[in-house]
Amino acid sequence: MSLNLVTLLYLIASVCFIQALKGLSHPTTSIRGNLFGMVGMTIAALTTAALIVKLAGSGLGLVWVLLGLVVGGSYGAWRAKTVEMTKMPELVAFFHSMIGLAAVFIAIAAVAEPWAFAIVEKGGPIPGGNRIELALGAFIGAVTFSGSVIAFGKLSGTYKFRLFKGAPVVFPGQHWLNLGLGLAALFFLFGFWHSQSPIDFALICALGFILGVTIIIPIGGADMPVVVSMLNSYSGWAAAGIGFSLNNPMLIIAGSLVGSSGAILSYIMCKAMNRSFFNVILGGFGGEAAAGAAGAAEQRPVKSGSADDAAFVLGNAETVIIVPGYGLAVARAQHAVKELAQKLIAKGVTVKYAIHPVAGRMPGHMNVLLAEAEVPYDQVHEMEDINGEFQQADVAIILGANDVVNPAALTKGSPIYGMPILEAYKARTVIVNKRSMAAGYAGLDNELFYMDKTMMVFGDAKKVVEAMVKAVE
Ligand code: NDP
Repeated sequence: MSLNLVTLLYLIASVCFIQALKGLSHPTTSIRGNLFGMVGMTIAALTTAALIVKLAGSGLGLVWVLLGLVVGGSYGAWRAKTVEMTKMPELVAFFHSMIGLAAVFIAIAAVAEPWAFAIVEKGGPIPGGNRIELALGAFIGAVTFSGSVIAFGKLSGTYKFRLFKGAPVVFPGQHWLNLGLGLAALFFLFGFWHSQSPIDFALICALGFILGVTIIIPIGGADMPVVVSMLNSYSGWAAAGIGFSLNNPMLIIAGSLVGSSGAILSYIMCKAMNRSFFNVILGGFGGEAAAGAAGAAEQRPVKSGSADDAAFVLGNAETVIIVPGYGLAVARAQHAVKELAQKLIAKGVTVKYAIHPVAGRMPGHMNVLLAEAEVPYDQVHEMEDINGEFQQADVAIILGANDVVNPAALTKGSPIYGMPILEAYKARTVIVNKRSMAAGYAGLDNELFYMDKTMMVFGDAKKVVEAMVKAVE
């Protein structure tokens, strides 16, 4: 295979990746986007394997590469197939940790035997620019690895290890320590650039691993998905850095795409959750509000009704807006909700779904859930488009959502002040389904539940909605 052909195939793969990102930006085109991604990755992986054969021959090296592709690919496919939707952020954190570690390993190999990667002639010194790229790639990869491991532990919430607990781990002078570690890494980076000392390189990696832990432990579980998205971005930059050294345009392009799209996604999530982007990147400033507010639910009287009562109200409405939230995903009630909507539509009721950008536990969670139940896309509306319609709606029915409809976001001093919400409180009647008066993710009480026009219907979303379906005549 000629190098021109390799470049052409890499270019085609890059175009596929760009098309993938474009496609994934809307539910109607997301399947096509995923297909583009798969095709692009297949082309990139096969081309790289062919390049290895060209550079190193079809010896033991190729066997290892193919073995890695088969074992890693099979494990990834199995995990993706079996993971529960609500566990997705943990899985993504796990994958990022692997990308970070891969970047570190590649950098170590390239520093140990740079001629094997065609960086230099055998025995020659690594050029200064390559030294910086390799050291930076290894450092960012190390931060990504250990940071993602901590994020994985915090998200899963099943481990007893203190650093894996959702509560922030804070101690005096923490940010100074992080600054010191960062500056020390910079110092050894200079040393490695100057003398190509393997000790400096090893210290850079070690500091990266430590810094990954120390910047993530003070962040509360509530901010973890933003952190995962940020680590995703870091893993992309690590890959791009290594790509420069290996002179591999595919790694540079794919790494930059991951790096920039991850950063943009983190920014969008921060805005939707009212978190400061820079505080999350720097680590440790974002957890306090959510953690401090936990358990704030009050004991106050609410109006509650049965699924039959709710069905009666719904059946007599002209316009109904359904607000799905995390609880709907937990209960896996999306098919029942679709059935309810269909029954109401058949009765002449106008039904729309309102989607908050951070409803659930990952971006697009509710879109994916509703798409799974084949809810028609024209019934699904984003927050900006539907917020103006709540005032005219007869009923807003909130299914397993809490924070994304919490009017506390409008009150100065509230930990979620400034977070954009779905304005369900403006509807003429509000029906809320959840299992108890427990708080949502942000740990805050919700004034919406105590309003005169609100009817609470307690119970698991799937059971309650199925009962409503039966009761709607
Ligand atoms: P919330 O976490 O605020 O509330 C979910 C509600 O669902 C809970 O109050 C819970 O109450 C209820 N619930 C849980 N299980 C069930 C069930 N089986 N049946 C019925 N109800 C149930 O969810 P929202 O979607 O409103 O908000 C998402 C939150 O997650 C926001 O704070 C957002 O910032 C955060 N977040 C979102 C991310 C994203 O990318 N989407 C990423 C990270 C965080 P009860 O226990 O009483 O049933």
